[in-house]
Amino acid sequence: MTPTPRPVFDADQEMFRDQVRKFLQAEILPRHQAWEAQGQVDRDAWVKAGEAGLLCPTVAEEDGGLGLDYRFSAVVIEEMSRVGASGPGFWIHSEMVAPYLQTFGSAAQRARWLPRMVSGQAIGAVAMTEPEAGSDLRRIRTQARREGDQWRVSGQKTFISNGQMADVVILAAKTEGERLSLFVVDASRPGFRRGRNLAKLGLHAQDTSELFFDDMILPADALLGDLGQGLSYLVKGLARERLSIALSCVAKAEFAFAETLAHCRNRMVFGQRLLDHQNTRFVLASVKTDLAVGRAYVDDQLRRYLDGGLDAETAAMAKLWTTEMLGRTVDACLQLHGGWGYMQEMPICRAFADARVERIAGGSSEVLREIIGRTL
Ligand SMILES: Cc1cc2nc3c(=O)[nH]c(=O)nc-3n(C[C@H](O)[C@H](O)[C@H](O)COP(=O)(O)OP(=O)(O)OC[C@H]3O[C@@H](n4cnc5c(N)ncnc54)[C@H](O)[C@@H]3O)c2cc1C
Repeated sequence: MTPTPRPVFDADQEMFRDQVRKFLQAEILPRHQAWEAQGQVDRDAWVKAGEAGLLCPTVAEEDGGLGLDYRFSAVVIEEMSRVGASGPGFWIHSEMVAPYLQTFGSAAQRARWLPRMVSGQAIGAVAMTEPEAGSDLRRIRTQARREGDQWRVSGQKTFISNGQMADVVILAAKTEGERLSLFVVDASRPGFRRGRNLAKLGLHAQDTSELFFDDMILPADALLGDLGQGLSYLVKGLARERLSIALSCVAKAEFAFAETLAHCRNRMVFGQRLLDHQNTRFVLASVKTDLAVGRAYVDDQLRRYLDGGLDAETAAMAKLWTTEMLGRTVDACLQLHGGWGYMQEMPICRAFADARVERIAGGSSEVLREIIGRTL
C-alpha cells in the first residue's frame, strides 16, 4: 500500500522508525518462532531492546530515560504490530507500568525501578484481573492489610501479561474501607508466587500468568500514590492504554492486509490469480478502505493525546472501532488464504488468533459501549 503522509510524525520519529524496523528484523523476528514454542521471550531480548531505545521512551531523563514524547512509543507499538512481533510484552511494560510509576510513584520508587525498566533489566507487569473479577474491578478480593509499618497481602491474580518474567508488578488490592489501592511489588519478595503460564488461543510467545500472594509482606512505602486511589489512577491511565491498543490494531490490520495481498497475487485459482477474481478485489477494497479510515482516525486521536485533549470516552471509541475493524480484517484475510489460512505456519493464522484478545482485554467491547453509551 502506498504510504500516506502522516503529519503527526516528524523526521525524528521517522528516523527512529527505521532503527526500530532494523532492530526487529535482526533481533526479534528470527527468534519469534522459538519463543512461540517455549511460551515466552528470552530475557536478553529485553536488554537488547533497552539498548536500542525501544523500552519506555517517555521516561524522563532524571529517571534514567530519554524523555521523549509519546510519538516514539507509538512508533515502537506500530512497528512491532506491523511485523507480527506479538511476543515481547514491551507495550505493557512501557505504556502501562512505567506511566504508573512516572505519574504516581515516589522519588524512591521511580529511582529504584525506572532506570532498570528503560534498560530492560527489570520487566514490568500490571496485576488487576482475578479469576472472579475482570471488567468489574470492584469485585477484586486481593487484600492488603496494614500491620504496623508494613502491609500483609493475600490473594491471587490471573491473565497477567509478562507475569512469568516480571520483576516489578503494579498490584491492585483492596485496602481499608473496601477501596482499591495500587502497590509496587518487587517480585523477589517472599510470598510472591508465579502460577501457570496459561495456554492461550494466540499470543503464544507472550507469557500470561497466574500470580499468587501468600501473606506477602510489603514495606509501607510499597503503596503507589495515595491510599484508596487505585480506581481513579486506573481511569487516568486509560486514554494512553486504549490509544496504544488502537494504534497497534490498525498496524496489525495493515500486516494482515499486506500478507493477504501478496498471497492473492501469487495464488492461482480457476485459471487466474486469486486477486483477479472480483470477490477478492471487493474484499480487499473494503479492507483497504477500513485501513485508510482507521489510520486517519487514530492519527487524529494521537494528535489529541499529544495536545492533552484525549479523554477516556474518546479513547474508548478508538479502541472499540479499531479492535472490531481488526477482527473483521483478519477474518476476511484468513478466508482469502483458504486452507493455508488455517495453518499455524502462516502469519495470517497467527494474526487471526492473536487478534481475538483485542476485543476482550483492556476494556471489552461491551464495557466500552457502556462507557460510550453513558455520554449520550
Ligand atoms: C491475553 C490476555 C492478557 C491479559 N493481560 C492482563 C494484564 O496484563 N493485567 C490484567 O490485570 N489483566 C489482563 N487481562 C485480563 C483482561 O483485562 C480481562 O480478561 C478483561 O478485562 C475481561 O475481564 P474477564 O475476563 O473477567 O471477563 P468478564 O468481566 O467476566 O466478562 C465476561 C463477558 O461479560 C461482558 N461484560 C462485562 N461487563 C459487562 C456489562 N456491563 N454489560 C454487558 N456485558 C458485560 C464482557 O464484555 C464479556 O463479554 C488479560 C487478558 C487476556 C485474555
